[in-house]
Amino acid sequence: MSGMKTDLKLIDENGKRIDGRGFDELRPIKIEAGVLERADGSAYIEWGGNKIIAAVYGPREVYPKHMQDPSKAVLRARYNMAAFSVDERKKPGPDRRSIELSMVISNALSSVVFLEQFPRTAIDVFIEVLQADAGTRIAGLTAASVALADAGIPMKDLIVGCAAGKVENTIVLDLNKEEDNFGQADLPVAIIPRTKDVVLFQMDGDMTQEEIDKAMDMAINAAMKIYDLQKDALKRKYFSIVQEDEQ
Ligand code: ADP
Repeated sequence: MSGMKTDLKLIDENGKRIDGRGFDELRPIKIEAGVLERADGSAYIEWGGNKIIAAVYGPREVYPKHMQDPSKAVLRARYNMAAFSVDERKKPGPDRRSIELSMVISNALSSVVFLEQFPRTAIDVFIEVLQADAGTRIAGLTAASVALADAGIPMKDLIVGCAAGKVENTIVLDLNKEEDNFGQADLPVAIIPRTKDVVLFQMDGDMTQEEIDKAMDMAINAAMKIYDLQKDALKRKYFSIVQEDEQ
């Protein structure tokens, strides 16, 4: 969010955004569960121009051992952007941004997993961003919760992420890259759909309380649609296993 002045018009006179969407329209989203053979659980998400894989291992032994918690499992999410995921090659390895995102994603996922059921173990979640186009933290989190369910790890519910923001003084849903770069604010949120508890809330840019409320409403409404896509992905995976077993 640079807030940089630009000649680029992000909303045209007909109220359409640069990719043709209306204010409260999501980018196209596709989710697939169980895409990796060697992980305990996995998921792939395409969300607009984002392409992200999530892989889950565990519950398994904790290394290094001093990180064990005798009362519950430790859930460690690692968010990583591939060097080829952005326009200019990104320097490989963790940076401040990826360390922060790994932490907020770990916290969000920890709020739904029944960690007490697996003391002294680790649940490792890897989020690999193959192609980035704004909104990768919420897309990665959305895929990661499907991967956890695919791994058969007991959870209260899935977690769904969605963002809304402010572009040309208008509240819009699910910012793309240009809107994120040249817009006024981005508000990524994630919820537990059944309870509507908010488990991730960040803001980049400036919005009034009224604007935040409007953006939150928009993001939460859209999250409920994304929840259906997550459940569909898991049902498709389960259904194909049942069919294989019957053959
Ligand atoms: P999010 O991806 O969750 O929206 P940011 O707001 O930090 O997170 O990033 C917005 C977008 O900016 C990313 O999705 C990506 O397309 C781009 N981006 C982030 N970090 C880099 C980087 N180091 N180099 C190039 N582009 C980046």
